[in-house]
Amino acid sequence: MLIDSHCHLTKKFCPDVDQTLAQAKDAGVEKIITIGTTLEDSQEGIEIAQNHDGVYAAVGIHPEESCANWGKFEQLAQMPRVAAIGECGLDYKVGLPGQKEIFEKQIGIARKLNLPLSIHIRDAQDDLMKMDLAGTRGVFHCFSGDERYLNFILTKLPDFYISFAGNVTFKNASGLQQLAKLVPLERLLVETDSPFLAPHPLRGSQNTPANVKITVQFLADLKSISLEELSKITSKNAQILFGI
Ligand SMILES: [Zn+2]
Repeated sequence: MLIDSHCHLTKKFCPDVDQTLAQAKDAGVEKIITIGTTLEDSQEGIEIAQNHDGVYAAVGIHPEESCANWGKFEQLAQMPRVAAIGECGLDYKVGLPGQKEIFEKQIGIARKLNLPLSIHIRDAQDDLMKMDLAGTRGVFHCFSGDERYLNFILTKLPDFYISFAGNVTFKNASGLQQLAKLVPLERLLVETDSPFLAPHPLRGSQNTPANVKITVQFLADLKSISLEELSKITSKNAQILFGI
């Protein structure tokens, strides 16, 4: 069994959800988490999850977005088939002013509702390391950063996983590949972040959850274990974290 722990199945990202899910099933992907980026997008993700077996939703406000109604956010986060809060985080490349407060708000809601966080951090690792994540758990999705930051997560945030997306397979990603080698198997998750970041050799095309298998195979080779073994371990990790 394979699990795609982070992708986007709502209409603006995925024009044909039924076809996408059928392809995923054919590739052995049995569970998928569709991640929210705004209130509306989160609500649409919940509807998709409620109407499709094996799909779960995360409710979140992306650092490029804002939230006009936190009451509604909390209400959505408590709906059936919601497995996480996210994506939320810090993005100093494209994020908006005020993103830190919006991230902190979501950390507080995750803590209160005992839901895992799906965290997006880009060019913001130093600020992340100063934030208070006590009493929370989750995953650093589409991991990027340096070894000091990775070690911080591994040692100081023991309830957090590290997830790699298709970009770890890219030809020019040797630095990221070295970091992936350092992540213990019991802390590792895999995702597509589709429709973004299609893995090599599909780089540049529209990504889809079925392609998570390519990234799992790549990481299995990197760690010198079989595809079956790594699929089993990363699926188990996702099931534990998200309760799915
Ligand atoms: Zn995403």
